[in-house]
Amino acid sequence: MTPLRLHNTMSGQLEEFLPIEPGHVRMYTCGPTVHDNAHIGNFRTFLFEDLLRRVLIQQGYRVMQVMNLTDVEDRIIKKAAEHGQTIDEFTERYIKAFFEDLDTLRIERAEHYPRATQHIFEMVSLIEVLNEKGHTYVTDGSTYFRIATFPRYGALAHLDVSGLKAGARVDVDDYGKDDPRDFVLWKARKPEEQSWETPLGAGRPGWHIECSAMSMKYLGESFDIHTGGVDNIFPHHENEIAQSEAATGKTFVRYWLHAQHLQDAVGEKMSKRLKNFTTLRDLIDEGYQPRAIRYALMTGAHYRSPLAFSPELLKAADSAIKRLNEFAVRLGSVMTDAEPPADIRVRWDDALKDDLNLPAAVGHLFEFIKAFNTALESGKARPDERAGAMAMLQHANRILDVIEFPEAVDAEVERLIAERQAARDRRDFARADEIRRQLLTMGIQLDDTRDGGTRWKRIR
Ligand code: AMP
Ligand code: ZN
Repeated sequence: MTPLRLHNTMSGQLEEFLPIEPGHVRMYTCGPTVHDNAHIGNFRTFLFEDLLRRVLIQQGYRVMQVMNLTDVEDRIIKKAAEHGQTIDEFTERYIKAFFEDLDTLRIERAEHYPRATQHIFEMVSLIEVLNEKGHTYVTDGSTYFRIATFPRYGALAHLDVSGLKAGARVDVDDYGKDDPRDFVLWKARKPEEQSWETPLGAGRPGWHIECSAMSMKYLGESFDIHTGGVDNIFPHHENEIAQSEAATGKTFVRYWLHAQHLQDAVGEKMSKRLKNFTTLRDLIDEGYQPRAIRYALMTGAHYRSPLAFSPELLKAADSAIKRLNEFAVRLGSVMTDAEPPADIRVRWDDALKDDLNLPAAVGHLFEFIKAFNTALESGKARPDERAGAMAMLQHANRILDVIEFPEAVDAEVERLIAERQAARDRRDFARADEIRRQLLTMGIQLDDTRDGGTRWKRIR
Protein backbone atom coordinates (compact mmCIF):
# COMPACT_ATOMS: atom_id res chain seq x y z
CA MET A 1 0.00 0.00 0.00
CA THR A 2 1.18 3.51 -0.79
CA PRO A 3 2.28 5.32 2.37
CA LEU A 4 0.95 8.77 3.25
CA ARG A 5 3.60 11.34 2.42
CA LEU A 6 3.51 14.94 3.55
CA HIS A 7 5.72 17.91 2.74
CA ASN A 8 7.63 18.92 5.84
CA THR A 9 8.68 22.59 5.82
CA MET A 10 11.47 21.69 8.27
CA SER A 11 13.25 19.32 5.85
CA GLY A 12 11.90 20.90 2.67
CA GLN A 13 11.03 17.35 1.52
CA LEU A 14 8.18 14.94 1.16
CA GLU A 15 8.35 12.53 4.10
CA GLU A 16 6.44 9.41 4.97
CA PHE A 17 4.07 10.24 7.79
CA LEU A 18 4.53 8.14 10.92
CA PRO A 19 2.94 9.43 14.13
CA ILE A 20 4.70 9.22 17.48
CA GLU A 21 1.98 6.93 18.84
CA PRO A 22 0.79 4.37 16.26
CA GLY A 23 -2.77 5.03 15.11
CA HIS A 24 -3.09 8.40 16.87
CA VAL A 25 -2.29 11.81 15.40
CA ARG A 26 -1.83 14.90 17.53
CA MET A 27 -1.95 18.13 15.60
CA TYR A 28 -2.04 21.84 16.28
CA THR A 29 -3.47 24.31 13.81
CA CYS A 30 -2.93 28.04 14.39
CA GLY A 31 -6.36 29.61 14.61
CA PRO A 32 -7.89 33.00 13.93
CA THR A 33 -7.18 36.30 15.61
CA VAL A 34 -10.68 37.24 16.64
CA HIS A 35 -10.64 40.99 16.07
CA ASP A 36 -12.88 40.84 12.99
CA ASN A 37 -14.58 38.29 10.74
CA ALA A 38 -12.11 35.88 9.15
CA HIS A 39 -11.63 36.37 5.39
CA ILE A 40 -11.66 33.63 2.78
CA GLY A 41 -7.84 33.65 2.69
CA ASN A 42 -7.91 32.49 6.31
CA PHE A 43 -10.48 29.89 5.30
CA ARG A 44 -8.23 28.58 2.57
CA THR A 45 -5.81 27.60 5.33
CA PHE A 46 -8.58 26.26 7.60
CA LEU A 47 -9.95 24.21 4.68
CA PHE A 48 -6.49 22.82 3.99
CA GLU A 49 -6.46 21.72 7.63
CA ASP A 50 -9.92 20.18 7.20
CA LEU A 51 -8.56 18.26 4.20
CA LEU A 52 -5.59 17.06 6.23
CA ARG A 53 -7.82 16.03 9.11
CA ARG A 54 -10.26 14.14 6.87
CA VAL A 55 -7.46 12.34 5.00
CA LEU A 56 -5.90 11.26 8.30
CA ILE A 57 -9.25 9.99 9.53
CA GLN A 58 -9.87 8.19 6.25
CA GLN A 59 -6.44 6.58 6.67
CA GLY A 60 -7.74 5.12 9.91
CA TYR A 61 -6.08 7.49 12.39
CA ARG A 62 -7.68 8.82 15.51
CA VAL A 63 -7.05 12.58 15.38
CA MET A 64 -6.62 14.97 18.26
CA GLN A 65 -6.67 18.47 16.77
CA VAL A 66 -6.26 21.69 18.70
CA MET A 67 -6.93 25.13 17.23
CA ASN A 68 -6.26 28.22 19.31
CA LEU A 69 -8.32 31.37 19.29
CA THR A 70 -6.02 34.39 19.56
CA ASP A 71 -8.11 36.69 21.70
CA VAL A 72 -5.42 38.92 23.15
CA GLU A 73 -3.41 40.99 20.71
CA ASP A 74 -2.71 44.67 19.92
CA ARG A 75 -5.62 45.20 17.53
CA ILE A 76 -8.06 43.45 19.86
CA ILE A 77 -6.99 45.48 22.87
CA LYS A 78 -7.20 48.71 20.88
CA LYS A 79 -10.58 47.97 19.35
CA ALA A 80 -12.06 46.71 22.64
CA ALA A 81 -10.95 49.93 24.31
CA GLU A 82 -12.48 52.00 21.49
CA HIS A 83 -15.78 50.21 22.07
CA GLY A 84 -15.49 50.61 25.83
CA GLN A 85 -15.59 46.83 26.22
CA THR A 86 -13.54 44.16 27.90
CA ILE A 87 -11.62 41.77 25.65
CA ASP A 88 -14.21 39.03 26.23
CA GLU A 89 -17.13 41.29 25.40
CA PHE A 90 -15.44 42.50 22.26
CA THR A 91 -14.29 39.13 20.89
CA GLU A 92 -17.48 37.22 21.66
CA ARG A 93 -19.30 38.11 18.44
CA TYR A 94 -16.27 37.28 16.27
CA ILE A 95 -15.80 33.92 17.98
CA LYS A 96 -19.46 33.16 17.39
CA ALA A 97 -19.17 34.25 13.74
CA PHE A 98 -16.08 32.10 13.32
CA PHE A 99 -17.88 28.95 14.43
CA GLU A 100 -20.85 29.80 12.22
CA ASP A 101 -18.50 30.19 9.27
CA LEU A 102 -16.86 26.83 10.05
CA ASP A 103 -20.29 25.21 9.90
CA THR A 104 -21.23 27.05 6.72
CA LEU A 105 -18.08 25.69 5.06
CA ARG A 106 -18.59 22.24 6.60
CA ILE A 107 -15.22 22.36 8.29
CA GLU A 108 -15.08 19.56 10.84
CA ARG A 109 -14.65 20.69 14.40
CA ALA A 110 -11.31 20.27 16.15
CA GLU A 111 -11.29 18.57 19.54
CA HIS A 112 -10.26 21.75 21.40
CA TYR A 113 -10.45 25.50 20.76
CA PRO A 114 -8.44 26.97 23.65
CA ARG A 115 -8.46 30.74 24.08
CA ALA A 116 -5.31 32.65 24.90
CA THR A 117 -7.01 34.64 27.68
CA GLN A 118 -7.90 31.40 29.46
CA HIS A 119 -4.32 30.10 29.44
CA ILE A 120 -2.37 32.97 30.96
CA PHE A 121 -1.19 30.72 33.80
CA GLU A 122 0.28 28.13 31.39
CA MET A 123 2.08 30.87 29.45
CA VAL A 124 3.51 32.43 32.59
CA SER A 125 4.73 29.01 33.79
CA LEU A 126 6.46 28.40 30.47
CA ILE A 127 8.14 31.81 30.59
CA GLU A 128 9.30 31.06 34.15
CA VAL A 129 10.99 27.87 32.91
CA LEU A 130 12.71 29.90 30.19
CA ASN A 131 13.80 32.43 32.84
CA GLU A 132 15.31 29.66 34.96
CA LYS A 133 17.17 28.22 32.01
CA GLY A 134 18.67 31.59 31.08
CA HIS A 135 16.89 32.20 27.78
CA THR A 136 15.30 35.52 28.70
CA TYR A 137 15.96 39.08 29.86
CA VAL A 138 13.77 41.87 31.12
CA THR A 139 13.73 45.44 29.84
CA ASP A 140 11.26 48.03 31.15
CA GLY A 141 9.05 45.32 32.65
CA SER A 142 8.80 43.29 29.42
CA THR A 143 10.39 39.84 29.13
CA TYR A 144 12.19 38.91 25.92
CA PHE A 145 13.52 35.65 24.50
CA ARG A 146 17.24 35.86 23.77
CA ILE A 147 17.72 34.22 20.38
CA ALA A 148 21.49 33.95 20.89
CA THR A 149 20.79 31.22 23.48
CA PHE A 150 19.09 29.00 20.88
CA PRO A 151 21.56 28.06 18.12
CA ARG A 152 19.03 26.18 15.99
CA TYR A 153 17.01 29.37 15.46
CA GLY A 154 16.08 29.79 11.79
CA ALA A 155 16.02 26.06 10.91
CA LEU A 156 12.33 26.02 9.92
CA ALA A 157 12.41 29.12 7.75
CA HIS A 158 15.85 28.10 6.40
CA LEU A 159 17.12 31.52 7.36
CA ASP A 160 20.66 32.62 7.70
CA VAL A 161 20.01 34.67 10.80
CA SER A 162 23.66 35.48 11.39
CA GLY A 163 23.23 38.32 8.89
CA LEU A 164 20.87 40.10 11.26
CA LYS A 165 23.19 41.90 13.65
CA ALA A 166 22.44 43.43 17.00
CA GLY A 167 21.84 47.13 16.61
CA ALA A 168 20.48 46.86 13.06
CA ARG A 169 16.97 47.51 14.29
CA VAL A 170 14.41 45.75 12.15
CA ASP A 171 11.42 46.36 14.32
CA VAL A 172 11.06 49.99 15.25
CA ASP A 173 8.27 49.28 17.72
CA ASP A 174 10.44 47.28 20.10
CA TYR A 175 13.04 49.60 21.55
CA GLY A 176 13.85 47.39 24.48
CA LYS A 177 15.54 44.52 22.67
CA ASP A 178 19.24 43.68 22.90
CA ASP A 179 19.12 42.04 19.48
CA PRO A 180 16.54 42.73 16.76
CA ARG A 181 15.85 39.00 16.40
CA ASP A 182 14.74 38.71 20.02
CA PHE A 183 11.02 38.62 20.56
CA VAL A 184 8.71 39.50 23.39
CA LEU A 185 7.31 36.82 25.70
CA TRP A 186 5.56 39.10 28.18
CA LYS A 187 4.63 42.72 27.53
CA ALA A 188 4.64 45.17 30.41
CA ARG A 189 1.28 46.70 31.18
CA LYS A 190 0.40 49.96 29.46
CA PRO A 191 -1.84 52.17 31.60
CA GLU A 192 -4.96 52.10 29.44
CA GLU A 193 -4.75 48.40 28.54
CA GLN A 194 -6.33 45.32 30.06
CA SER A 195 -3.61 43.37 31.84
CA TRP A 196 -2.94 40.43 34.17
CA GLU A 197 -1.15 40.55 37.53
CA THR A 198 1.41 37.73 37.47
CA PRO A 199 4.80 36.83 38.95
CA LEU A 200 6.29 38.30 35.76
CA GLY A 201 4.72 41.65 36.62
CA ALA A 202 1.53 43.23 35.36
CA GLY A 203 1.13 42.79 31.64
CA ARG A 204 -0.01 40.48 28.92
CA PRO A 205 1.48 37.67 26.86
CA GLY A 206 3.12 38.03 23.48
CA TRP A 207 1.50 36.20 20.60
CA HIS A 208 4.03 33.40 20.07
CA ILE A 209 4.08 32.07 23.64
CA GLU A 210 0.35 31.43 23.42
CA CYS A 211 0.73 28.69 20.80
CA SER A 212 3.66 27.01 22.58
CA ALA A 213 1.84 26.93 25.91
CA MET A 214 -1.53 25.77 24.57
CA SER A 215 -0.20 23.21 22.10
CA MET A 216 1.97 21.53 24.74
CA LYS A 217 -0.82 21.63 27.31
CA TYR A 218 -3.22 19.67 25.09
CA LEU A 219 -0.83 17.63 22.94
CA GLY A 220 2.29 17.07 25.04
CA GLU A 221 5.84 18.39 24.73
CA SER A 222 6.37 16.57 21.40
CA PHE A 223 3.57 16.08 18.93
CA ASP A 224 3.08 15.09 15.31
CA ILE A 225 1.84 17.92 13.10
CA HIS A 226 1.75 21.70 13.32
CA THR A 227 0.15 23.73 10.53
CA GLY A 228 -0.66 27.26 9.45
CA GLY A 229 -0.40 29.53 6.45
CA VAL A 230 3.08 30.21 5.02
CA ASP A 231 3.13 33.63 6.68
CA ASN A 232 3.22 31.78 10.02
CA ILE A 233 6.59 30.15 9.26
CA PHE A 234 8.56 33.20 10.20
CA PRO A 235 8.67 34.50 12.79
CA HIS A 236 5.69 32.82 14.50
CA HIS A 237 6.53 29.15 14.13
CA GLU A 238 10.26 29.76 14.34
CA ASN A 239 9.64 31.46 17.69
CA GLU A 240 7.35 28.68 18.88
CA ILE A 241 10.14 26.17 18.23
CA ALA A 242 12.69 28.29 20.08
CA GLN A 243 10.46 28.76 23.16
CA SER A 244 9.24 25.19 23.33
CA GLU A 245 12.50 23.38 22.66
CA ALA A 246 14.52 25.73 24.87
CA ALA A 247 12.08 24.92 27.69
CA THR A 248 11.76 21.14 27.24
CA GLY A 249 14.96 20.08 25.47
CA LYS A 250 12.79 17.91 23.21
CA THR A 251 11.76 18.08 19.57
CA PHE A 252 8.60 20.17 19.62
CA VAL A 253 6.94 19.02 16.37
CA ARG A 254 7.71 16.25 13.86
CA TYR A 255 5.97 17.57 10.72
CA TRP A 256 5.44 21.23 9.84
CA LEU A 257 2.84 21.82 7.10
CA HIS A 258 2.06 25.21 5.58
CA ALA A 259 -0.61 26.32 3.14
CA GLN A 260 0.17 28.84 0.45
CA HIS A 261 -1.86 32.00 0.27
CA LEU A 262 -5.08 32.89 -1.36
CA GLN A 263 -4.42 35.90 -3.53
CA ASP A 264 -6.56 38.60 -5.03
CA ALA A 265 -7.03 38.92 -8.80
CA VAL A 266 -3.71 40.73 -9.25
CA GLY A 267 -1.66 38.23 -7.28
CA GLU A 268 -1.40 40.00 -3.91
CA LYS A 269 -1.87 38.03 -0.70
CA MET A 270 -5.42 38.54 0.51
CA SER A 271 -5.13 40.37 3.82
CA LYS A 272 -6.85 42.72 6.21
CA ARG A 273 -3.93 45.10 5.97
CA LEU A 274 -4.16 45.52 2.18
CA LYS A 275 -7.98 45.71 2.38
CA ASN A 276 -8.17 43.37 -0.64
CA PHE A 277 -10.11 40.70 1.20
CA THR A 278 -13.51 39.10 0.82
CA THR A 279 -15.44 37.48 3.62
CA LEU A 280 -17.56 34.39 3.42
CA ARG A 281 -20.59 36.49 4.32
CA ASP A 282 -19.95 38.89 1.40
CA LEU A 283 -19.89 35.96 -1.03
CA ILE A 284 -23.06 34.44 0.35
CA ASP A 285 -24.80 37.81 0.12
CA GLU A 286 -23.74 37.89 -3.53
CA GLY A 287 -25.58 34.61 -4.01
CA TYR A 288 -22.72 32.11 -4.02
CA GLN A 289 -23.36 28.71 -2.49
CA PRO A 290 -21.20 27.78 0.51
CA ARG A 291 -20.48 24.42 -1.14
CA ALA A 292 -19.02 26.17 -4.19
CA ILE A 293 -16.82 28.31 -1.97
CA ARG A 294 -15.61 25.22 -0.08
CA TYR A 295 -14.93 23.37 -3.32
CA ALA A 296 -13.15 26.31 -4.96
CA LEU A 297 -10.81 26.90 -2.02
CA MET A 298 -10.05 23.20 -1.60
CA THR A 299 -9.58 22.09 -5.18
CA GLY A 300 -8.61 25.30 -7.02
CA ALA A 301 -4.92 24.53 -6.49
CA HIS A 302 -2.73 22.18 -4.48
CA TYR A 303 -2.37 23.57 -0.97
CA ARG A 304 1.30 24.42 -1.53
CA SER A 305 0.57 26.55 -4.60
CA PRO A 306 -0.86 30.05 -4.46
CA LEU A 307 -4.47 30.34 -5.56
CA ALA A 308 -5.89 33.46 -7.21
CA PHE A 309 -9.43 34.14 -6.17
CA SER A 310 -11.97 35.13 -8.85
CA PRO A 311 -15.66 34.83 -9.68
CA GLU A 312 -14.67 32.39 -12.46
CA LEU A 313 -13.15 30.09 -9.86
CA LEU A 314 -16.47 30.02 -7.99
CA LYS A 315 -18.45 29.48 -11.17
CA ALA A 316 -16.21 26.58 -12.15
CA ALA A 317 -16.70 25.12 -8.68
CA ASP A 318 -20.44 25.51 -8.97
CA SER A 319 -20.57 23.64 -12.27
CA ALA A 320 -18.26 20.90 -10.98
CA ILE A 321 -20.62 20.33 -8.05
CA LYS A 322 -23.60 20.28 -10.42
CA ARG A 323 -21.87 17.56 -12.44
CA LEU A 324 -21.26 15.54 -9.29
CA ASN A 325 -24.87 15.99 -8.14
CA GLU A 326 -26.22 15.07 -11.56
CA PHE A 327 -24.09 11.98 -11.60
CA ALA A 328 -25.52 10.99 -8.21
CA VAL A 329 -29.05 11.51 -9.54
CA ARG A 330 -28.29 9.46 -12.67
CA LEU A 331 -26.99 6.56 -10.65
CA GLY A 332 -30.36 6.62 -8.92
CA SER A 333 -31.28 4.39 -5.99
CA VAL A 334 -28.65 1.74 -5.55
CA MET A 335 -27.48 -0.53 -2.77
CA THR A 336 -25.33 1.43 -0.37
CA ASP A 337 -23.10 -1.34 0.96
CA ALA A 338 -21.12 -1.72 -2.28
CA GLU A 339 -17.36 -1.11 -2.58
CA PRO A 340 -15.89 1.47 -4.97
CA PRO A 341 -14.14 -0.04 -8.02
CA ALA A 342 -10.52 -0.71 -7.03
CA ASP A 343 -8.99 1.21 -9.91
CA ILE A 344 -10.55 4.60 -9.27
CA ARG A 345 -10.42 4.22 -5.53
CA VAL A 346 -6.68 3.56 -5.59
CA ARG A 347 -6.07 6.49 -7.92
CA TRP A 348 -8.11 8.78 -5.66
CA ASP A 349 -6.44 7.57 -2.45
CA ASP A 350 -2.94 7.65 -3.92
CA ALA A 351 -3.35 11.25 -5.06
CA LEU A 352 -4.38 12.23 -1.53
CA LYS A 353 -1.54 10.23 0.00
CA ASP A 354 0.81 12.17 -2.27
CA ASP A 355 0.91 15.27 -0.04
CA LEU A 356 -2.88 15.76 -0.15
CA ASN A 357 -3.11 16.31 -3.89
CA LEU A 358 -6.84 16.90 -4.03
CA PRO A 359 -6.81 18.65 -7.45
CA ALA A 360 -5.28 15.49 -8.96
CA ALA A 361 -7.74 13.25 -7.09
CA VAL A 362 -10.67 15.27 -8.40
CA GLY A 363 -9.23 15.04 -11.92
CA HIS A 364 -9.25 11.24 -11.65
CA LEU A 365 -12.79 11.30 -10.31
CA PHE A 366 -14.08 13.34 -13.25
CA GLU A 367 -12.34 11.02 -15.74
CA PHE A 368 -14.11 8.13 -14.08
CA ILE A 369 -17.46 9.93 -14.18
CA LYS A 370 -17.04 10.77 -17.85
CA ALA A 371 -16.36 7.16 -18.78
CA PHE A 372 -19.18 5.92 -16.57
CA ASN A 373 -21.65 8.39 -18.09
CA THR A 374 -20.87 6.94 -21.50
CA ALA A 375 -21.62 3.48 -20.16
CA LEU A 376 -24.87 4.73 -18.60
CA GLU A 377 -25.98 6.35 -21.85
CA SER A 378 -25.41 3.19 -23.85
CA GLY A 379 -27.24 1.16 -21.19
CA LYS A 380 -24.12 -0.89 -20.41
CA ALA A 381 -23.80 -0.11 -16.70
CA ARG A 382 -24.94 -3.07 -14.61
CA PRO A 383 -26.71 -2.43 -11.26
CA ASP A 384 -23.67 -3.64 -9.28
CA GLU A 385 -21.46 -1.27 -11.26
CA ARG A 386 -23.84 1.60 -10.56
CA ALA A 387 -23.70 0.73 -6.87
CA GLY A 388 -19.89 0.72 -7.03
CA ALA A 389 -19.88 4.13 -8.69
CA MET A 390 -22.19 5.44 -5.98
CA ALA A 391 -19.85 4.04 -3.33
CA MET A 392 -16.96 5.87 -4.99
CA LEU A 393 -18.90 9.11 -4.96
CA GLN A 394 -19.59 8.65 -1.26
CA HIS A 395 -15.94 7.84 -0.61
CA ALA A 396 -14.86 11.04 -2.39
CA ASN A 397 -17.50 13.04 -0.58
CA ARG A 398 -16.04 12.11 2.82
CA ILE A 399 -13.29 14.53 1.82
CA LEU A 400 -15.11 16.95 -0.48
CA ASP A 401 -18.38 17.17 1.46
CA VAL A 402 -20.20 19.05 -1.30
CA ILE A 403 -22.35 16.44 -3.05
CA GLU A 404 -26.10 16.39 -2.51
CA PHE A 405 -27.19 12.80 -2.75
CA PRO A 406 -30.81 12.38 -3.89
CA GLU A 407 -31.93 10.50 -0.75
CA ALA A 408 -30.36 13.10 1.49
CA VAL A 409 -32.15 15.88 -0.42
CA ASP A 410 -35.45 14.04 -0.17
CA ALA A 411 -35.05 13.62 3.57
CA GLU A 412 -34.19 17.30 3.99
CA VAL A 413 -37.20 18.36 1.90
CA GLU A 414 -39.51 16.18 3.99
CA ARG A 415 -38.07 17.63 7.18
CA LEU A 416 -38.58 21.21 5.97
CA ILE A 417 -42.14 20.49 4.85
CA ALA A 418 -42.94 19.09 8.29
CA GLU A 419 -41.39 22.15 9.90
CA ARG A 420 -43.44 24.42 7.62
CA GLN A 421 -46.60 22.54 8.53
CA ALA A 422 -45.83 23.00 12.22
CA ALA A 423 -45.25 26.72 11.62
CA ARG A 424 -48.61 27.01 9.85
CA ASP A 425 -50.34 25.12 12.64
CA ARG A 426 -49.13 27.70 15.14
CA ARG A 427 -50.04 30.46 12.60
CA ASP A 428 -46.39 31.52 12.16
CA PHE A 429 -46.87 32.32 8.48
CA ALA A 430 -43.65 34.31 8.23
CA ARG A 431 -41.62 31.20 9.09
CA ALA A 432 -43.76 29.08 6.76
CA ASP A 433 -43.05 31.48 3.90
CA GLU A 434 -39.39 31.53 4.74
CA ILE A 435 -39.25 27.75 4.44
CA ARG A 436 -41.10 27.86 1.13
CA ARG A 437 -38.51 30.33 -0.18
CA GLN A 438 -35.64 28.23 1.15
CA LEU A 439 -37.00 25.21 -0.68
CA LEU A 440 -37.30 27.24 -3.87
CA THR A 441 -33.61 28.08 -3.69
CA MET A 442 -33.00 24.31 -3.43
CA GLY A 443 -35.02 23.88 -6.64
CA ILE A 444 -38.07 22.46 -4.86
CA GLN A 445 -41.57 23.81 -5.47
CA LEU A 446 -44.43 23.13 -3.07
CA ASP A 447 -48.10 22.56 -3.93
CA ASP A 448 -50.59 22.64 -1.11
CA THR A 449 -53.40 20.17 -1.82
CA ARG A 450 -57.08 20.66 -0.94
CA ASP A 451 -57.02 18.00 1.71
CA GLY A 452 -54.44 20.06 3.65
CA GLY A 453 -51.40 18.06 2.54
CA THR A 454 -48.33 19.29 0.63
CA ARG A 455 -46.82 17.87 -2.55
CA TRP A 456 -43.40 18.86 -3.88
CA LYS A 457 -41.58 18.68 -7.16
CA ARG A 458 -38.16 19.53 -8.55
CA ILE A 459 -38.21 22.56 -10.84
CA ARG A 460 -34.59 22.29 -12.00
P1 AMP B 1 -4.83 35.33 11.41
O1 AMP B 1 -6.27 35.46 11.83
O2 AMP B 1 -4.31 36.51 10.68
O3 AMP B 1 -3.95 34.95 12.59
O4 AMP B 1 -4.73 34.13 10.37
C1 AMP B 1 -5.32 32.87 10.56
C2 AMP B 1 -4.72 31.88 9.58
O5 AMP B 1 -4.98 32.28 8.23
C3 AMP B 1 -3.20 31.73 9.68
O6 AMP B 1 -2.87 30.36 9.60
C4 AMP B 1 -2.67 32.48 8.48
O7 AMP B 1 -1.45 31.94 8.03
C5 AMP B 1 -3.77 32.23 7.47
N1 AMP B 1 -3.86 33.24 6.39
C6 AMP B 1 -3.86 34.59 6.50
N2 AMP B 1 -3.99 35.17 5.28
C7 AMP B 1 -4.10 34.17 4.37
C8 AMP B 1 -4.26 34.11 2.94
N3 AMP B 1 -4.37 35.21 2.17
N4 AMP B 1 -4.31 32.89 2.36
C9 AMP B 1 -4.22 31.75 3.10
N5 AMP B 1 -4.07 31.74 4.44
C10 AMP B 1 -4.01 32.93 5.08
ZN1 ZN C 1 0.08 29.98 16.34
